[in-house]
Parts: sequence; C-alpha cells; structure tokens
Amino acid sequence: MKNFLAGEWVDKSKKIEVRNPYDNSVIDAVPKAEAADVERALAFAQRGAKVMAKLSGYERWKILRKAADSMAARNEELGRLISKEEGKIIAEGRGEANRAVEAMTGSAEEAKRLHGETVPLDGDPVGANRLGFTLRVPCGVVAAITPFNFPLNLVCHKVGPALAAGNSVIVKPATDTPLSALRLVEILLESGLPPEGIQCITGSGAEIGDLLVADRRVRKISFTGSREVGDRICRTAGIKKVTMELGSNSPLIIMPDADLEKVAAAVASTGYSNAGQSCISTQRVLAAGKVYSDFLSALSPKVKALSAGNQLDEKTKVGPMVREADAVRVEQWVQEAVGGGARVVVGGSRQGAVYAPTVVADVKPEMRISCDELFGPAVTVTPFQTIDEAITLANDTFYGLSAGIFTEKIEWAMRFAREVESGNLHINWGPAWRVDLMPYGGLKESGFGKEGPRYAVEEMTELKMVVFHLST
Ligand code: NAP
Repeated sequence: MKNFLAGEWVDKSKKIEVRNPYDNSVIDAVPKAEAADVERALAFAQRGAKVMAKLSGYERWKILRKAADSMAARNEELGRLISKEEGKIIAEGRGEANRAVEAMTGSAEEAKRLHGETVPLDGDPVGANRLGFTLRVPCGVVAAITPFNFPLNLVCHKVGPALAAGNSVIVKPATDTPLSALRLVEILLESGLPPEGIQCITGSGAEIGDLLVADRRVRKISFTGSREVGDRICRTAGIKKVTMELGSNSPLIIMPDADLEKVAAAVASTGYSNAGQSCISTQRVLAAGKVYSDFLSALSPKVKALSAGNQLDEKTKVGPMVREADAVRVEQWVQEAVGGGARVVVGGSRQGAVYAPTVVADVKPEMRISCDELFGPAVTVTPFQTIDEAITLANDTFYGLSAGIFTEKIEWAMRFAREVESGNLHINWGPAWRVDLMPYGGLKESGFGKEGPRYAVEEMTELKMVVFHLST
C-alpha cells in the first residue's frame, strides 16, 4: 500500500515489507518515509488544520458516521487484514474490527456534543457586569503514534476523536502493522473527509519519530506504546499537549472466598487473548495461600485447551506473537524464572513466533517475568496471606493501568478499589476488559490522559475563555 501524504497517495522506492507473523510470508510492502516526508506532512497538516476547523459539527459527524457504517459493512475484510498483519486469531481480528466501528461511532457522536460552559463571573468581588463562557477549539495538528497490537482500533481511538474535534491528523502506525491504518485512511476519504484532514506515513519510529514529535507545528501528540518510547517522546516533545497510553504488568487478586471456576475462566480469557499482547492482559495472578493449589488445578485444564498455531485457522485459540524475537524473549524470561525457583505448570514451549499458553507458579515478585511488562501468553502465579499483602504486591510496580480482584466480600472489593493504584479496576473479572464508553488510561508510569471518545475528544481540544465586559 502507499502512504497518504499531502493530499495524495505516494509511493517510494525504499520499502518496508509487512509479514504474516505466523509463517513470515510477505503480505504487502509500504513506503519507508524519511525526514523530507515528515517535513512535507507537517507543512500540509498545518494548512489542513485550517480546513478542518471550518467544518461544522454536523459535517464532522456525517463523515465519521459514514466511515463507521462502511467499516461495519467491511468487517470480514478488515478483520482478516488485522489478523494477517498482527497475528491475532481471526475471531479476535473480527472482534477488533467491530470495536473500531464503536470507536468511530462514539467519535461521530462527540462531534455533535463538544461544548463549553458559562462561567458565573459575577460571583467574584470584581466580576459584576461580566459575562463569561468557554469555547472548545481544536488543537490544530495532531500526531497519532500507534502500537502494533491493535492496528485498527487504537488508530480509530486517536483519529476518530481528533477529527471529531476538527483537527488535522498525521498518523504514524507501527512498522510491523501499518496496513489497517492505511485502509482506514481510504475509508475516511471515501466517506467525505477532506484530504487535508488526514495523512498516514509509514517508517521507522526510531528514525522519523523525533522529527515529528519535536516539531512546533504539532500541537497535540497522542501516543500509545511502550513506556520506554513514551518516556523519550515526553522528553522530546517540548511544550505541547501529550496523551500517553503505555504498558503495564496487570495484577489479578484472588481472595479466599472466590469462585475458582469463574476465576480460572477469567484468567484463561484475559491472560492469553491476542497472545497476551494487550496492555491490560492479566500478567500477575496473586492467589490467597488457602486457594493457591486449587486455583492452579482449576486453571491448568483451561489453559491446556487453548490450542496455539496459525491465526487464520478458525480452530486456533492463540496465534503467534508479532515477531519471533518476542517469543524468544518470553521463553527466556520464563526460563530465567524457573532458574530462580518458579515452576512451569502448563506450556513453556515455543515454535517460531508461537509461544504456547503458559502458566508459571511460585513466581517471586522481584523476578523479571513479574516486575516487568511481559506482553506475551504467560501468566505468573504468586501466593499471598493477607489482603494487605495482596494490595502491597499489586502496587509494587511503576505501572498502574488495570487490575482485578475476585471476592464476594464488599469490604475487600472496596479496599481494592480505593487502595490499588490503577486507572481501571475490575471486581470479579480480570484486568483485560474495556468498552469505549469508559475513560480509559493509566496511573503512574502507565501514562496520562484518557481515551474513549467522550474523554479523548476533550484531550484533542483547547479550552478558551471569553469575557464580555458589559456596561450594565
Ligand atoms: P513501541 O515500540 O513503543 O511503538 C509504538 C509506536 O511508537 C510505533 O509506531 C513505533 O514505531 C513508534 N516509535 C518508536 N520509536 C519512536 C520515537 N523515538 N518517536 C516516536 N515514535 C516512535 O510499542 P509497541 O511494541 O508497538 O506496542 C506495545 C506497547 O504498547 C506495550 O508496552 C503495550 O503495553 C503498549 N500499549 C498500551 C496501550 C494502552 O492503551 N495503554 C494499548 C496498547 C499497547 P515503529 O513501529 O516504527 O518502531
């Protein structure tokens, strides 16, 4: 596919091959954008911001609504594309394509709802005869930088609210998975988006990222990706609005009164979907000592039943990781934990980029597989004795994106909700649950700013204050 740059589809002789992670076959190639392309995109986006700011809310709604309808009609095609480039199983590809429709539908609705408010200035001792109100205005040029793991939905979560708010957007998708983002641009243009409203450039983030994020013409950066790259972007960005959606090592606490069959079903579902490559994947299971071995017995058959392999085979439950190097990394971290006294209860094997769904028990909190973001199809299990210890373990991390607890006791659930340092808290389900009506984002080094169209659309605007100084 080509890039959409400065209002036209552009090819280049320098290319990046896009491969199916399962068999490494080449499925397409995209241009390798360079510094000159970034400069061209920025100059065009600055003009585009003026075009976009002139569209009415109704016009923005109509474009996004039409795009959502078109995406819904093309679910199978989009689902298959996602699955092929990213490696998630085809059912998850279709699921992501459906969720992307929701993100665009929600964004369309927000295009009609953006509003300011009146401010009662006469409540101030010097405010008499003043009338004040706020206006929400677009930021201007938005740079949307996205990760590989949800190559369509996470692009929609940035592009949808940015366009709903009347910005022009430059998308820089992940190099491993650029095709869904480019297809989205096609759909938006077919849906009536002015070509000035969007550009999509593909190229190495390490090579062109700094140029994009440091540039003063960019007024808003919305980034989803790793903590390391997020940290670099924050340092490079200078004075502009930034949203950071970063990683995590999400904990799930099992209290002694939990229904272990329900917990096991939740872990099998929330620990291994997308081969564990979800920012809110269940990574660290903290199980009360009293139910520790019963929980392992309940979980093991469920994880053994998750057949791993070719993501396009309808029977496969867990697909390959995005790169073989990542599967090798997961294998090494598991082996390192075993070397330190942990025990592989299920899985532990690798074939190419496919790492078997794995359960590692007796994990010590200081092991890398527990204290770093694993981002793979393995779940660690660690015992605790008291709720105080469970909460301390859950919080013993720089991250804070999502967490879960299983208990029937309201006091334990409320202590968890109040004391666990996490942007999302789930009672009686695993951390990996999200719908787009939620304000979604992390605490601590999992980032700042919220996604979900209702919240993201505000992040994509600036607030202006208007004061009328009246004579009477
Ligand atoms: P990544 O390596 O950080 O890459 C994310 C994006 O940043 C890619 O487009 C990448 O381009 C680009 N990039 C790399 N270096 C850059 C630089 N110096 N300046 C600007 N952009 C740069 O992350 P990933 O491996 O694709 O995704 C996995 C990570 O994303 C995990 O940590 C996961 O937890 C996190 N994530 C968070 C959320 C959330 O909502 N909180 C959701 C999904 C994923 P290249 O591909 O060309 O390197």
